[in-house]
This record gives sequence, C-alpha cells and structure tokens, in this order.
Amino acid sequence: MVWCSVSRTSHQSSGRKESPEEQRSRTMRAVRSKDTSPELIVRRTLRSLGFTGYRLHHKRLTGKPDVAFLGRRKAIFVHGCFWHGHDCPRGARIPKSNRDYWLPKIKRNRERDKEHVAALVEQGWSVLTVWECDLRNTEELADKLRAFMAQ
Ligand SMILES: [Zn+2]
Repeated sequence: MVWCSVSRTSHQSSGRKESPEEQRSRTMRAVRSKDTSPELIVRRTLRSLGFTGYRLHHKRLTGKPDVAFLGRRKAIFVHGCFWHGHDCPRGARIPKSNRDYWLPKIKRNRERDKEHVAALVEQGWSVLTVWECDLRNTEELADKLRAFMAQ
C-alpha cells in the first residue's frame, strides 16, 4: 500500500485515521488513472490485430474516449465494472456500507457514459464499450475488437 503524503494528510493532522471507505476510494482513484492496465490490454490487442494510429483521450471528442480512430470515426471506451455500474457480478458488488455514497456516484457515471455514447453516435461515430470483465478472455476480446473495427 502506498501512503501518499499530499495535502490530505495536512488537514487531517488531528490524527484521524482514514476509514476503510476512504482508503478504498483512494485506491479506486489510483486505479482509475489514465493508463490503467485494462486500457493497455485493449491497446495491445488492437495493435496485435494491426489496428494502429489511434488517439488516446482525445480532448475534442465527447467523453474523451480512451481510444479513438479519427479517420474511421470509431471510439472505444474501457470501463471498470464497479465505477461504471456494469451489469455483471463485479459491477453489482457494491460495498454494503456507504451505499448512499457509492450508488449516486455510479449512477452518475452510468448516465454520463450514456450521454457520451449518444452524442458520439449523433456525430456519426461508432462506439464500443469494453468492460473490465471482457478482458479476462483475450480471444473473445480480440473477436469483439475485430468485429467492431470491421463494421
Ligand atoms: Zn463487468
């Protein structure tokens, strides 16, 4: 476990320890950072299929898709099942404590995801969402990506 000593420790000088939820949320934030390994797996798979020349987190595209092929107008989002409320066992595993905290957050993410996809489709893009749980089976992932790119 990495203990970072940035500002949050300074206003917690009362000696108060982080709750498990706070620790969890900090870990989740770290996991969610830009180059998360699920994204790397998707990129590696795309390259292995010969699909290169993609752009990452393109600022001018709605929702900053994790991977975008500008010429082909194809965008790929790579979503963590928990944070984006995937309808799978992992996505359903919401901590029993602090549900009031997690549920609205996840709901908001889901709504935002939907809006982003709708906006991109409106602009003539094809959009694929790859879920964290899709990454377990690399062959299926490759099939999914290949099919999407061939559309
Ligand atoms: Zn999932």
